[in-house]
Amino acid sequence: MVQFDEFMIAAAAGAWKRPSVYALDNWCRRLSNSLNGESRFLNSAQSGHLWERIIRHDIETTQHELLQITSTARKAAQASVLLHDYDAELKTKGITEDHQAFYRWHKAWNLELGRLNRQDQSTRISFVSKAFAQGELSPPAKIVMVGFDDFNPAQKNLLHALAEAGTQTEIYPDHQIESDISVYPGLDREDEVAECARWIRHLLRDNPELRIGVIAPDLERYQSLIRHHFLSELDPSAALDGSGSSLPYNISLGGRLDGEGVIFSALQLLSLPSVLSIDELSRLLLSPHLAGSGAAFAKRSLADVELRRRRLASFPLWKLQRLLEDVGCDHDFVTIIESISRFNNNSHKAMPGVWAEKFANLLQACGWPGDRTISSRQYQAVERFRTLLAEIASLDLVAGPVSRSEACRLLRQMAADVEYQPESSGSKVQVLGMLEAGGLDFDCLWILGMHSSALPKSVRPNPFIPRSLQKEKGMPRADAGRELEYAGRIIQRLFNAAPSVVTSWPVTDNGVAQRPSFFINDLPARSLPDTVSAAPAATISAWKGALEYISDFQTRSLLSKKPVSGGTAIVKDQALCPFRAFAHYRLKAQGMEDPDIGLDNMTRGTLVHSTLEFFWETTRTHETLSQLSEEDISSTLSRAVEQALTREEKQKRADMPSRIRELESLRLVRLCRKWLELERKRAPFTVIEQEQLHQETIGRLHFRTRIDRIDRLENGTLAIIDYKTGIPDPKQWYEHRIQEPQLPVYCNAIERSEIGAVLFAVVRNKPAERRFSGLARAPEEFPGLSSHALQKTLNEFGWEDIDQVLGHWKNALPALGDAFTSGDASVDPVDVHKTCRYCDLTSLCRIHERNDWPLWEVRCD
Ligand code: SF4
Repeated sequence: MVQFDEFMIAAAAGAWKRPSVYALDNWCRRLSNSLNGESRFLNSAQSGHLWERIIRHDIETTQHELLQITSTARKAAQASVLLHDYDAELKTKGITEDHQAFYRWHKAWNLELGRLNRQDQSTRISFVSKAFAQGELSPPAKIVMVGFDDFNPAQKNLLHALAEAGTQTEIYPDHQIESDISVYPGLDREDEVAECARWIRHLLRDNPELRIGVIAPDLERYQSLIRHHFLSELDPSAALDGSGSSLPYNISLGGRLDGEGVIFSALQLLSLPSVLSIDELSRLLLSPHLAGSGAAFAKRSLADVELRRRRLASFPLWKLQRLLEDVGCDHDFVTIIESISRFNNNSHKAMPGVWAEKFANLLQACGWPGDRTISSRQYQAVERFRTLLAEIASLDLVAGPVSRSEACRLLRQMAADVEYQPESSGSKVQVLGMLEAGGLDFDCLWILGMHSSALPKSVRPNPFIPRSLQKEKGMPRADAGRELEYAGRIIQRLFNAAPSVVTSWPVTDNGVAQRPSFFINDLPARSLPDTVSAAPAATISAWKGALEYISDFQTRSLLSKKPVSGGTAIVKDQALCPFRAFAHYRLKAQGMEDPDIGLDNMTRGTLVHSTLEFFWETTRTHETLSQLSEEDISSTLSRAVEQALTREEKQKRADMPSRIRELESLRLVRLCRKWLELERKRAPFTVIEQEQLHQETIGRLHFRTRIDRIDRLENGTLAIIDYKTGIPDPKQWYEHRIQEPQLPVYCNAIERSEIGAVLFAVVRNKPAERRFSGLARAPEEFPGLSSHALQKTLNEFGWEDIDQVLGHWKNALPALGDAFTSGDASVDPVDVHKTCRYCDLTSLCRIHERNDWPLWEVRCD
């Protein structure tokens, strides 16, 4: 249209009437509308559903198996359109099983159309041709056809009918611009697009009025690269702030409607199950597209953290209200959950139109699309989605009552099928597919992706029409000769569409070597102007100015003398990596919990601790244990297990599913019973303390901690015991940097001579792993320890006896406490392979930016 105006201005016209410009399909739709004929045609949603229904019915009656009904229905619909457009008729003799199936479906399709008194939308063009031929439509005086590389028989019939009716038809000639064509072999697709983006920026810098075209035979594969590189080069500040709401180019290919975040969140809302997983609940809590999401974002985020901390993996909607209130979630969100729960109670079937209304009501009740201001792009997507809800109601014509999940599936499928294109930005840079560029000319043109398998297109006939018939009628993708000739025509048109044309191809694509297309094979490669990138990342790395380095391994000292919360884990973290201790206990940063189905390892470990604690609360001494009969042990253990499970449920404020509770109860009784057999083999002892709170001081660090258990031994000394359900390594106690400081910390406040043993009680199922491990003055009194093995280990680390190790702890631990309180926050893991691999702070800590970071080893693990 701009070119038309320029032409009229150049022709010195003072005023002129703008011509009406339509895509051929839209023009036919307008004409059929003017005859009130539009209601005769099924829309795309109705056609798709009807094809699927016919195919489903056919495979049920013929007892064939078909996995991909939706994509088969699409191919069948395409075959039906081809038959109409190319005026072809299926023969029943000598055809394959697939063709026979399609023949049946096509027959059923025509019968259904007759029953519904509707027509296939592919026949609209014939309807219009007939209307011109019969004088029902008044023919325009003149039409100009622009951008048609080929006319199929149905289009030719229309032109014929127009000519008969007296319309003057002109086929707009291809441009014949003398071009300077160069070839750029890109390293890969990314390199091609990046070079193209820099080339455009270079051209626009010299002349912002240039009309630049970018064309790709396979635009869909290039779309995301184009979006990234064009935005980075043409609008770097928008690329940095991530807005990108108005693109610096126009693209003919839209994305899928369900790819827009706001639509994804609506579809998720409508298809939620009645029991949510933690991830589904998390997505809802953090969604910006629900009522109250702005004002209550902090509350909802904290609720998410708290729910994960409780390690519950599934959340029945009907129980969720109480739990949400319990974790401090806002009232709006609780109301949203109530609405979803009510909506999910709709278990009966209903017509699609009824579901459309219910969907709209639920979205409204949830405050979708949220109370924040949405961008223009999001607004357009929301409006398109609302029309989609109306379209699903149109399925009432071809569908019967459907379930809620089926209605959701239909809506999802329709949203995936809608190609969504926000309004264009009015930029002079046009990104187009090969066919959309027909009839257009540019000042400069770049053709991307010209490798041999992109052009000419490979032969891929429709599977439901015999290939011979497709070749005979000249249908697309049915014959290599036709494709070569057709591609040649298009490429010639493009080469003549601008005075300066660059073509490019990727030398490799996903690691596979490529060859240039036949059409550019003989063209000479020419170098492009040397352009500097304006992309933010390239600009920053090319920065030559002075950089200021800031050391951030030391933070402020702790001034308060109050105990720091965290217990011995502070000292352990400080020993493993000072930044980890700083992040956990001063920044209060923690990785998000990721609960799994059933009970996680930490909960199962806690239950073992609690069971043994309750058991020893009543049993107390080795003597009592030895006197208990098997039945007594069983009943005492069963009571202890019940108490442990109840305590766990109370702490989490949620009941365990009954089957899981039952299984866990059996496991705990069996495991603890085996452990008690080991305790029976010990020398006499009395349990004098369990889970008691102690105030500890390590250097200048004060904290409170609980010791699992302290036993008084026969000789009056103490055994400090820590239960472990994993496999601990006491050798870490003997290292210079003590990595397992929990038990050493417990020993800190006890007189050295009073300590008889420092032990891990390894409560494991496998007999070989179930044992005591650690230090003891009389090792033979503890199953799993021996004097010989212990002495050997001590010698290995240069210690003579247990007293020397206890002395080492006394000396080494205060340094860790002092380092923490003085603000040492250096990123210094003991072992980057082990310590960082199991650290929950990898999203906060930047150690992975170090060049020697074992990236693949960790990620692949
Ligand atoms: S990831 Fe490694 S370096 Fe970073 S805090 Fe954790 S342990 Fe320390």
